[in-house]
Amino acid sequence: MDLKDHIRGIPDFPKPGILFYDVSPLLAHGPAWKTAIDRLADAVRPHRPDVLVGIESRGFLVAAPLALALGIGFVMVRKRGKLPGDTVAHSYDLEYGTDTIEVQSDAVKPGQRVVVLDDLLATGGTMAAAVTLLRRIGADVRAAAFLVELTFLNGRDKLDVPSLSLMAYD
Ligand code: AMP
Repeated sequence: MDLKDHIRGIPDFPKPGILFYDVSPLLAHGPAWKTAIDRLADAVRPHRPDVLVGIESRGFLVAAPLALALGIGFVMVRKRGKLPGDTVAHSYDLEYGTDTIEVQSDAVKPGQRVVVLDDLLATGGTMAAAVTLLRRIGADVRAAAFLVELTFLNGRDKLDVPSLSLMAYD
């Protein structure tokens, strides 16, 4: 099955000049979505994670079913101010300005092996920030995994962990 048949490119979203890769049709198609999760499970399993981490918000959609498929837990990295209790934050630079992500301090036990999920790898800034944040709470980050990778943006060069993706666009 070619999963790219279920990815839709939407020009000029969210601003002119950006081609937005919309994963909604993949999520909406039961057999294709199951195939995507099965293939990701096969790619992620060799990294032997104890827990999966999803990056808000579309990373949650990938990490939660994948964690169930692998029989392990799921942890959220969220935008600032969304998580209750003790949290650790990390700010990172965007094209214009900065953004802050957070994780609960006790979400991962020191030394636990984690794989981090997002829907799409573009410049790599978001995933690199999540990896830094997770290391701050003691996580042993083993890999980053995505449905889609925009290879022409060289995002994997920003990551010091193996980068796994199901579909590449160049
Ligand atoms: P980056 O930090 O540049 O790797 O951007 C990754 C984040 O932004 C992911 O959470 C994606 O969901 C989103 N994103 C960036 N570029 C696109 C794009 N062209 N199409 C869809 N989502 C994108």
